[in-house]
Amino acid sequence: MTNTLLILPGDGIGPEVMAQVRRVIDWFGANRGMPFEVSEGLVGGIAYDEEGAPISDATMEVAQSVDAVLLGAVGGPKWDDLDFKDKPERGLLRLRKDMDLFANLRPAQCFDALADFSSLKPDLVAGLDMMIVRELTSGVYFGEPRGVSHDGNERVGVNTHRYTESEIARVARSAFELARKRRNRVCSMEKRNVMEAGILWHDVVQEVHDAEYGDVELTHMLADAGGMQIVRAPKQFDVILTDNLFGDMLSDVAAMLTGSLGMLPSASLGAPMANGRPKALYEPVHGSAPDIAGRGVANPIACILSFAMALRYSFDAGDGADLLEGAVQSVLADGVRTGDLMGPEGGTPVGTAQMGDAILAKLDAA
Ligand code: NAD
Repeated sequence: MTNTLLILPGDGIGPEVMAQVRRVIDWFGANRGMPFEVSEGLVGGIAYDEEGAPISDATMEVAQSVDAVLLGAVGGPKWDDLDFKDKPERGLLRLRKDMDLFANLRPAQCFDALADFSSLKPDLVAGLDMMIVRELTSGVYFGEPRGVSHDGNERVGVNTHRYTESEIARVARSAFELARKRRNRVCSMEKRNVMEAGILWHDVVQEVHDAEYGDVELTHMLADAGGMQIVRAPKQFDVILTDNLFGDMLSDVAAMLTGSLGMLPSASLGAPMANGRPKALYEPVHGSAPDIAGRGVANPIACILSFAMALRYSFDAGDGADLLEGAVQSVLADGVRTGDLMGPEGGTPVGTAQMGDAILAKLDAA
C-alpha cells in the first residue's frame, strides 16, 4: 500500500520544526523501505495571507484523501485582530471538524534523561508512558442549548454536557484498540456519582468492553480521583479514556509530568477509511512560539514524535516508531539539548537543525 502524507507546516516555528521531520520522513524512505508520497499545503496565518482563508477548500480536499496529515503550528500576533472566522486557529478547527476526528490521543511519556524537568519527583516519572484518549467532537463544548441569557435581573450562562451512546462507543473502541497495541489496560474516567451522562458513559464503555474487548483490562475511576492519581502515581496508568472536558484538563495535567512543551506530540483520529487506516491528524501540542520563531532554536522533537505516532497508528509501523523514539531517547541521554531542555545540569546546546542531525545520526547508527 502506498503511504500518503499531507504536510502543513503552518506559522512561526512550524516550518522550522517540520523541516527536520521532512528529513526523518526521507530517512525512512531511503533506509527502511517505507517511501511516502508527500504533498505540502498551507494552514493558519500564512494560508490566510496567501490563499484568503486559514485553510482552503483545495487543501481540505487533499487532507480528506491522504492517510495522514502532519501539522506544525498555527497562529501569531500578526493575525490576532482578524475576524473570528479568519483566525489561524480556524484552519485547525476545520481540519478536526470536517475530518470528524473524535479521538484525541495525548501521550505523556517521560524520557529518563529529562526526569528532572518534571514538577514531580524524578522516580515518580522516570520511564512514564501513558496515553490519554480524549473525546474531541462532542460533550459540553458542543452541546445545545448553550449561551448567556437573562433570567429576571441576572444573567445565566448555560452549556450542555451531552453524549450519545454511539459517540461514547466509538471513542471507547479507539481506546481499546490502542490499548491492544500497548500494555492492554484502559482506565475510563467520568463523574457518574453526580452526572447522568457519566452513568451512561460508564455503562456504554463497559458494554463495548464486554462485547468486543474482553481481552483488555478495564477499570473505572471518578475523574476527580483520577486527577489525584495522575499526580500521585502516574505510572499505574496505561490508557486513560475520558470525555472532552475532563480530557482537556487531565491531558494538560499529565503533560506537565513530562517537563517541556517542546517534547509533546499528539494525534487526532477518526473513523477508518476504505483502506482500513483511520482519518488522522498528527501535531505537536505546542503552538507557533512567536517569541523564538525564525531563530533556528526551536525544539523539533514534539513534531518528530508526532511523526512517530503516525508511523504507529496510521502506517502500522510500530517498529519504525520504536526506532525513532529510541533515537530521541538516545540523543537526550547524550546530553544534546535545545534551549528549552537546558537544565541546571547543562548539556550540549544545539539549535533546531543540529537536533535533527543528532537524531538522524542515531537512526543511521541503529
Ligand atoms: P506556544 O506553545 O507557542 O509557546 C509557549 C512557550 O513555549 C513559549 O515561550 C515558546 O517559546 C515555548 N515553546 C513552544 N514550543 C517550543 C518548542 N518546540 N521549542 C522550544 N520552545 C517552545 O504557546 P503560546 O505562546 O501561548 O501561543 C503562541 C501562538 O501559538 C498563539 O498564536 C496561539 O494561538 C498559537 N497556538 C497554536 C497551537 C497549535 O497550532 N496547535 C497551540 C497553542 C497555541
